Amino acid sequence: MIENHLPTAELQALDAAHHMHPFTDGDALNKKGARIITRAKGVWLTDSEGNEILDGMAGLWCMNIGYGREELAEVAARQMRQLPFYNTFFQTSHIPAIALAKKLAELAPGNLNHVFFNGSGSDSNDTNIRMVRHYWNVKEQPERTVIISRWNGYHGSTIGAASLGGMKGMHKQGGLPIPDIVHIDQPDWWSEGGDMTPEEFGLARAQELEAKILEVGPEKVAAFIGEPIQGAGGVIVAPETYWPEIQRIVKKYGILLIADEVICGFGRTGNWFGCQTLGIEPDIMTVAKGLTSGYIPMGASIVSDEVAKVINAGDEFAHGYTYSGHPVAAAVALENLRILEEDGVIDRVRSEIAPYLKAKWESLSDHPMVGEAKIVGMMGSIALTPNKAKRAAFAAKSGTIGLITRERCFANNLVMRHVGDRMIISPPLTITKAEIDELMVRARKSLDEAYEKIK
Ligand code: PLP
Repeated sequence: MIENHLPTAELQALDAAHHMHPFTDGDALNKKGARIITRAKGVWLTDSEGNEILDGMAGLWCMNIGYGREELAEVAARQMRQLPFYNTFFQTSHIPAIALAKKLAELAPGNLNHVFFNGSGSDSNDTNIRMVRHYWNVKEQPERTVIISRWNGYHGSTIGAASLGGMKGMHKQGGLPIPDIVHIDQPDWWSEGGDMTPEEFGLARAQELEAKILEVGPEKVAAFIGEPIQGAGGVIVAPETYWPEIQRIVKKYGILLIADEVICGFGRTGNWFGCQTLGIEPDIMTVAKGLTSGYIPMGASIVSDEVAKVINAGDEFAHGYTYSGHPVAAAVALENLRILEEDGVIDRVRSEIAPYLKAKWESLSDHPMVGEAKIVGMMGSIALTPNKAKRAAFAAKSGTIGLITRERCFANNLVMRHVGDRMIISPPLTITKAEIDELMVRARKSLDEAYEKIK
């Protein structure tokens, strides 16, 4: 066990020597060392130097109830003592998985009443790929294998999920996407809307789905997948015309709609699920992150009565993970959902805290370097631009001003992420108004300092 009190430089050297980080530039890690987080409470992180850092990203969009809730630790310990593991394969079950599936069926909208448990968001989307293809097989339409997704969407890092995602940089590393996954353009009006109004652009981008279905052949299309609001792509909020048109098209061609709620789920947009905020009616929802508020890994695919009926009618679905429905994860998830519900966290987001954050966040658009400021519930973004009227991108390599701004946030003890030249936030849902004020002070200071550097 490595003690917290080793000097930071020593910890950083050990880290760089032996720890391969996800999504991290190895060279930068060697030169600068990682920031080492030692503890956290509420929305505040403490690093190995004793800095108090405001976590504007809820970890990786997951700490919905905030850090340091003792109840979750107690539930996990109790469950570990009683039944630390048993699988849910081969017609066995256990009480935490049963109770969690029932609860999720209650919370999920419409007829999404059946839950397949997974270990993360990525492998939940892999489950979805296999499940929709199996679904069409059972329905004796085995040629329906193609899944349509969007460029700049993010659905995870496994081979399947990264193929579903539309991150070209990820595709370049290793022959992705896998066959029968195709992409259409994203509904990012700020960057790609040209002379169209947002409404015209939203319709046009949704209609790319119909064009793609016709190009592929409607009889070959299994499903469309999208995040209600693209998170990792830069908190891209589609124009209002977009989702109703997508919904019309998937209905017309009878293809399944998968809503990836890994970020949007469990209160992030002010309702239990992003679908409810945006009026989307999916056949399958992918969930993870906020399901346990990140206290322990867990994901799930929540599917409709119809999908479950077909899957159950077919040959055994030859799919599953050792940790599908892990009892400790399920117990922690149930306690997290209890807190979200009984503490009124989501109600408070909708009625009080999201409107407060929205007013503050949108006021950033008066900053000389900020173009659009978008926010839905507790996920927001700003586009950095040298020319607001033209919605111009900075001439330097995309990401440079974003990276500079993120560095200034780091220096000001605020975690705010950048995606290219967009800055994004997604704080814990339990953040207070005073903490939002503090977040805004640090964000504005960081923007001012970045602006000074490039002027
Ligand atoms: N789907 C979405 C929308 C995500 O944002 C993410 C992660 O950020 C994933 C899937 C992948 O989840 P995980 O990192 O738990 O595999």
